[in-house]
Amino acid sequence: MNNTHEITVNVETPGDPLVSRTLAILKDRIQQRCSIKVVQAGAEAQLVLTVAGDLPPEAFRIDQAGAAVRIAGGSPRGLLYGVGKFLRTSRYDGTFLPSTWRGTSTPQCPVRGMYFASHFHNWYHEASEPEIARYVEDIALWGVNAIQVSFPFLNLQGWDDPQAGPAVTMVRRYARIAKDMGLLFSIGAGNAQFNGAPKHLRATPLPDPTRRRGNSGNPICPGNPEGHAYIIENVRHLFEQLTDIGLDFVRYWPYDEGGCACEKCRPWGSNGFLKLSRDLTQLGREYFPNLKTILSTWMFDTPPEGEWQGLTDALGKDAGWVDYILADSHNDFPRYPLDVGVPGELPLLNFPEISMWGNWPWGGVGAHPLPSRFQRLWDQVKHVVKGGFPYSEGIYEDLNKAVVVQFYWDRDQSARTTLEEYIAYEFGSGVTQDVLAVIDILETAAECFDRNQPLNAEEARRAHRLADAVNGRLPTWARQNWRWEILYLRTVLERERSAGDGLETPAAEAAMVRLIEIYHCQMETDDPYHHRVRPLSRQAVSRRGEC
Ligand SMILES: [Zn+2]
Repeated sequence: MNNTHEITVNVETPGDPLVSRTLAILKDRIQQRCSIKVVQAGAEAQLVLTVAGDLPPEAFRIDQAGAAVRIAGGSPRGLLYGVGKFLRTSRYDGTFLPSTWRGTSTPQCPVRGMYFASHFHNWYHEASEPEIARYVEDIALWGVNAIQVSFPFLNLQGWDDPQAGPAVTMVRRYARIAKDMGLLFSIGAGNAQFNGAPKHLRATPLPDPTRRRGNSGNPICPGNPEGHAYIIENVRHLFEQLTDIGLDFVRYWPYDEGGCACEKCRPWGSNGFLKLSRDLTQLGREYFPNLKTILSTWMFDTPPEGEWQGLTDALGKDAGWVDYILADSHNDFPRYPLDVGVPGELPLLNFPEISMWGNWPWGGVGAHPLPSRFQRLWDQVKHVVKGGFPYSEGIYEDLNKAVVVQFYWDRDQSARTTLEEYIAYEFGSGVTQDVLAVIDILETAAECFDRNQPLNAEEARRAHRLADAVNGRLPTWARQNWRWEILYLRTVLERERSAGDGLETPAAEAAMVRLIEIYHCQMETDDPYHHRVRPLSRQAVSRRGEC
């Protein structure tokens, strides 16, 4: 590839929409980073994109074909993943240096999802369609194959709420964007319903002695026939909104927003929850005959109520309606599936919480990388899980997404290796060690935050000095990338918080106002939950209070 102004690409399998999209992504990401034109050409091209029948569908191979570099996928989606690897291992230092990586790569975990918690007017709730489409492209390049969103019942009074139409539009938009990228699409369903649900149908609050399950949202008692009918009716309406686009997975979530502790429903996780989830599966398969179900066990037996064992007993009799068991917690992985086994002997998925630990508001001080934390948690489960759906509240933990998705792709790829690939691809060559040092300090800052201690002031200053020095060396395309900007702003805010006069200073205020812009937060909001995802600017107003 000697021509420095042009790179020629031969697409051997034209006509497939995802192959065309993959070519467009390749072109865009290269041309964004250097002044070179990517043009389509015939047999003499320098780069060949192809679909090869000898590979597993999601696998890719990058090899030499004469003078050309050939990227082959086992399917159009496999080709997309191969282009992701090619882009990340190419270099863009003024000129384009094509990847020298050669080999074949096959994902080890079949479910490589990402859960966008699309609520509270966070980035997922507010971003425009082109921004979301681009973001989904970016994470798909890392190996994601499924997207999950939530319909924000919590934020709405009912279907006649003026915001219900836009919320349906948002869910449909994610479904379409996922499908256009050849990805699977998933939503959640359960007994958490509208704000305006009739009071007499409400669930009995849960015992929550450890205060980890939550009693948020508006759960309805499905043990009450009228409550059951209300849930079924609303979920039916939601399914009906997706019949023309398709739905691949539905996920049932027991707690936080959900649950009921009445006599008929308790213990919720192995009783009312299972009955309702089974009924919703039957309903869902009326609309989507191949619908797969993911049953979450989040916070089971907190406190001990025999929920895990109850689930094992129930699925021992009838597991036909469940396809995956999902397990995780706020911190260490639950012991039951590791020590006793997965109920129904079903494939196990995890649900790493990549957004909320060690920061408040979520994303409020910028980028939130936690590579060591996720390496430690992954090491507890990497021998058993078949993938998962990391929980995401926004784009500020983009680094964590890459780390976790690459664990799913290759169980033994270290978080550090992924970070090195991420940094070189997103920020350019020659800054990897300095950015890694910054990330280490930021992770320490999150650990300090979790323990309610300040970060060492000298460390905070050092992170900012390093970031400033890197900033001066970055090529324009990298400096203008929001991924760098939120990392840089985080070092400003850590410096002000730990080594300066706190988050009230003009420098801190300016950084937070910029984050508010990047996240599309509302400076004045009527959403009582929005403060959870909005940096603490002095100008920020919550007109209807905060929940
Ligand atoms: Zn109940």
